[in-house]
Amino acid sequence: MSPRDLTHGPFTLPPLPFAEEALAPVISAKTLSFHHGKHHKGYVNNLNELIKDTDFAGLALEEIIAKTHGDEKAKKVFNNAAQVWNHSFYWNCLSPKATQPSKDLGDAIARDFGSLEALKKELKAKSTDHFGSGWGWLVIEGGKLKVKDTRDAETPVAAGTSCLLTVDVWEHAYYLDYQNARKDHVDALVEKLLNWDFASQNFAKAK
Ligand code: MN
Repeated sequence: MSPRDLTHGPFTLPPLPFAEEALAPVISAKTLSFHHGKHHKGYVNNLNELIKDTDFAGLALEEIIAKTHGDEKAKKVFNNAAQVWNHSFYWNCLSPKATQPSKDLGDAIARDFGSLEALKKELKAKSTDHFGSGWGWLVIEGGKLKVKDTRDAETPVAAGTSCLLTVDVWEHAYYLDYQNARKDHVDALVEKLLNWDFASQNFAKAK
């Protein structure tokens, strides 16, 4: 049996990179089991169903996202493909152990935000204040680190932007644990769970 080619569909649900209980109390096992096992899995299943026997079936996930972005007729494919990418990326942005930016990323943070504290403050504010469902991001645009937010399934990778970190602010990411208190969830996640090792790897690849 040859190893399956993961660059195109049918896509599979990647396992969580940590145990379901590992992020409690910031994110409970119950939230993770629904978020990963129902929501993320649902996007994967929907996408596979939508692209079956179409030209998209032979394409990599990021190609599907780029090709369908802004195309009203392909909106369902875009939404599900983008949510598959966003969630697969998001799990890697979380870590049960404390991490720190690499020297290189730390220097870029100091250059573009003044300090790690200032970056965290901006990421918390953008994520908390985002209206409705969406995502908060740390990205590189034009050689500079930037915090931004996107609505619904929208993702910076659609435009080929390099992403370092993301925060899921759809209600399904926190409602079981925090109900309407998005700010409390975002503050705890940014302070305790962000995986700066992963952000540093993404930064090194993006340079
Ligand atoms: Mn989500």
